[in-house]
Amino acid sequence: MRRPLIAGNWKMNGTKADAAELVRGIVAGVSGMQKTDVAVCPPFPYLYLVEELLQGTAIGWGSQDVSCEDGGAFTGQVSAAMLKDFGCRYAIVGHSERRQLNGETDGVIARKYAQAVANGLVPILCVGETLEEREQGKTEEVVAKHIDGVLNLEGVDAYAHGVVAYEPVWAIGTGVTATPAQAQEVHAFLRERIAKKSKEIAKGLRILYGGSMKPGNAAELIGQPDIDGGLIGGASLNAADFVAICQAGEDNA
Ligand code: PEP
Repeated sequence: MRRPLIAGNWKMNGTKADAAELVRGIVAGVSGMQKTDVAVCPPFPYLYLVEELLQGTAIGWGSQDVSCEDGGAFTGQVSAAMLKDFGCRYAIVGHSERRQLNGETDGVIARKYAQAVANGLVPILCVGETLEEREQGKTEEVVAKHIDGVLNLEGVDAYAHGVVAYEPVWAIGTGVTATPAQAQEVHAFLRERIAKKSKEIAKGLRILYGGSMKPGNAAELIGQPDIDGGLIGGASLNAADFVAICQAGEDNA
């Protein structure tokens, strides 16, 4: 049985004070939950604060990106070892905003994934198609390519140490969610792709859904057989909404 994971991606939002208030609200709201893993991914500058506030709780924290390099002369980058030093458990890699706005390729993303695993972090690999690609019937081709980046560089074993998040680009921040059936279809495809290399790893792999997940649609999405939780953007900035989504994970565990 896969344990649900609900992870909040705060993106580039909020102040230090907002971060503290949000974390306090989440800590209070999820305190009785036993069956769901909960995590928040704040902007880099707030990691220290979040570490201080979440220390000793069951809630994990992570980054929204990680360098594909070990360390050294890479201005502006943050290494996996540094994130580990700040107590991070997770690192999001390959978010569509970074693919689109920062030109990240599957090769670079696979190296980021490998850096995370090598430093004891759990990478959350985002995959997903644009609306145009979906309309052209290319969804499976696109997400397969995203998944294969890591398979080609690190082999299937890498998926024993990570999490995948299916995030259709057309559903991110748009208020339009994939239907549970649409999402389930892609999740099953992703799991099957990994299963071709290792049935055991595929069975244990958590595949999250991301894209306008909210309290009102979370239960039905997480209720699908191959959906193991959510990567939450907008709704993770509101403690009550995020906690309600965590509750949906708890109820489905
Ligand atoms: C995301 O960007 O990871 C995301 C899922 O955003 P939203 O929930 O706002 O669609």
